[in-house]
Amino acid sequence: MNLIIMGKPGAGKGTQTARLLKDKNFKVIATGDLIRQEIRNNSSLGQEVKSYSDKGLLVPDTIILKILKKHINKAKDVLFDGFPRTINQAKELENIAKPDLVLFLHVDDEIVIKRISNRQTVLHENKNFIFPNKEQAEKFIAKKGGVLIKRKDDTKEVIVKRLKEYQEHTKELVNFYKSKNIFYSLDGSKNVEEVHKELLDIINNFNS
Ligand code: AMP
Repeated sequence: MNLIIMGKPGAGKGTQTARLLKDKNFKVIATGDLIRQEIRNNSSLGQEVKSYSDKGLLVPDTIILKILKKHINKAKDVLFDGFPRTINQAKELENIAKPDLVLFLHVDDEIVIKRISNRQTVLHENKNFIFPNKEQAEKFIAKKGGVLIKRKDDTKEVIVKRLKEYQEHTKELVNFYKSKNIFYSLDGSKNVEEVHKELLDIINNFNS
C-alpha cells in the first residue's frame, strides 16, 4: 500500500515516519530531504530550488516532480512525507503511485513554532537526522558522529512563512483526499508513541 503522511512543518511527520519504519516496511520519499540533498550536492536542480527552500516557499511543481521521479523506482509500499503539497502534485501522484491512505497530523501553530525553534538537525553520512532538542542531537553525535547544522528555513521568520504557504494549499488537498474517502486526521500534539499507535491501527485496519 502507498501512504501519505501530511501535516504542517513540525507536525511530526519525520518523527512518525521513522517510528513507523520500525514496524512496517515502506520506501520513504521525503521531498524536503531530497531537496536538501540536491542542494548539498550543488546539482543543477539543487541550484534551482535553493532560493525557494531557503525562503520557506514551495518549490515549483515541475521541479519537485522532476526530483520525485528521479528517486521513485517502484510504485508500491511508498510512504510520502512532505509530498504532495499542492493539488497539482496530488493529481500527478495519482499516475505515479496512487495513495491508499492519507494520514493527517493536526497540530496548532503555536506548538509547531515552538517545536521547530527547538529542533536540531545532525548531518551524518550525508543524511539529516532531526532531534527535538540540542541535548539529544549531541548525544547522537557522541555515539555515531556527524555535525550539528541549522536548517536555513528553521528560523521563526521563515517558519511563519512556511506555515502560511502550507495553509494556502492544504484545504484543497484535504478536500481532494476526503472526497476519495482515504483521509484520516489525527491529533499530532499527543506524544510520539500515542500518535504512532493510532497511525498503526489505521494502517492495520486498512490491510485487514
Ligand atoms: P520539509 O522538510 O518537508 O519541510 O521541506 C522543506 C522545504 O522544501 C519546503 O519549505 C519547500 O521549500 C521544499 N519542499 C519540500 N517538499 C515540497 C513539495 N512537495 N512541493 C514544493 N516544495 C517542497
